[in-house]
Amino acid sequence: MKKPLWDHALATRAVHAGHSPDASAHASAPTLVMSNSFVVAADTSFSAESSAADAPHLYTRWSNPTVAELEDSLASLEGGEAAACFATGMAAFSGLLLHLLKAGDRLVMSDVAYAGAVELAHGKLAQLGIEVATVDMSDLDAVARAITPRTRLVHAETPCNPILRLTDIRAVADLAHRHGALLAVDSTFATPVATRPLALGADFVLHSLSKYLGGHGDALGGAIIGTRRAITDLRRDAVIHLGGALSPFNAWLIARGIATLPLRMRAHSDNALSIASRLEHRRGIKRVIYPGLPSHPQHELARRQMQCSSGMFTFQVEDGPRVARRLAESLGIFHYAVSLGHHRSLVFYLDTAQLMESSFHLSGPQLDSYRRFAGEGIFRVSVGIEDADDLYRDLDQALG
Ligand SMILES: *Cc1c(COP(=O)(O)O)cnc(C)c1O
Repeated sequence: MKKPLWDHALATRAVHAGHSPDASAHASAPTLVMSNSFVVAADTSFSAESSAADAPHLYTRWSNPTVAELEDSLASLEGGEAAACFATGMAAFSGLLLHLLKAGDRLVMSDVAYAGAVELAHGKLAQLGIEVATVDMSDLDAVARAITPRTRLVHAETPCNPILRLTDIRAVADLAHRHGALLAVDSTFATPVATRPLALGADFVLHSLSKYLGGHGDALGGAIIGTRRAITDLRRDAVIHLGGALSPFNAWLIARGIATLPLRMRAHSDNALSIASRLEHRRGIKRVIYPGLPSHPQHELARRQMQCSSGMFTFQVEDGPRVARRLAESLGIFHYAVSLGHHRSLVFYLDTAQLMESSFHLSGPQLDSYRRFAGEGIFRVSVGIEDADDLYRDLDQALG
């Protein structure tokens, strides 16, 4: 495996880290190795338990040259020693939880996060006897109260899906470590262009590669980055044995996307700021939440922790469901669709009452905190890299 580049700027590493011309064809562009099996020496071990981290490729569920190039690239971008890739972001998250946690352990996670992650924690994890405490991760006192001696893992997502509330990574890392717990940060919305959680004290960084890193809405993938030792152990349990390995074809597409990540993130965030700041003053718009706007309740933290504000914002209107129907019918450029981080602009309505019932189940101060960011419902906007004026005009005409 090639060494990641450590000494160059992010834009250079996005193009080169993990990749070098392959030894046989001398191809300049990354090659795609679809083979699921590799020709090996007769004394090669067949068990993941006894194989070394630097063993030759044997079978693609264990390791594959194209996936390994992407892993080295991701490790370099996040400033970690190693990365493991997964079939999806959810495979990465569930793999990390099942690798680290056993019955009787406690997981402290954000009460608002990717809906699938929260549903998994409340459902299957609780069934397995793992105690789950969900807290408002922006409330450091609540986080401190939730961490007990049995807490093995704290999981944060910043900015969090879908309301764009932020977590102070350094402060939560300090709290977790003081109690002997590990911190994992889902940095899908921030990307390594905006935030590098490992440098702020996190032990693991998670990504849904299906979003900004792949960047084109045509491949699913997930990744976890951490120390070499932690990732070797994680790979054995969570990739080789649980089996949610990334397809080499998707790894190849995602690696191709990563080369332009710094350029795309600049375009996403410039466009998002331009549209969000105009929408904030438009008639009929009750509220816009974007980390790059001074009106974001945690704008100071955003300035400290995010080097770019990414391309996600939300807005609120009176009668969201009616406006959602209008947008789905009348938008010309935006797609009314879930997912995010694509070059193409996307928008989707998330009704607060519905999300509470299906996923988050919040009440009391936690529901109040949710409503401070989302009211009765939000349009989650993933701003693409099209022209900002075209995008604003499209939203403006569809809003009526
Ligand atoms: C989409 C998403 C996930 C899940 O990723 P998949 O690749 O769809 O499984 C996890 N976390 C966040 C923040 C996401 O936006």
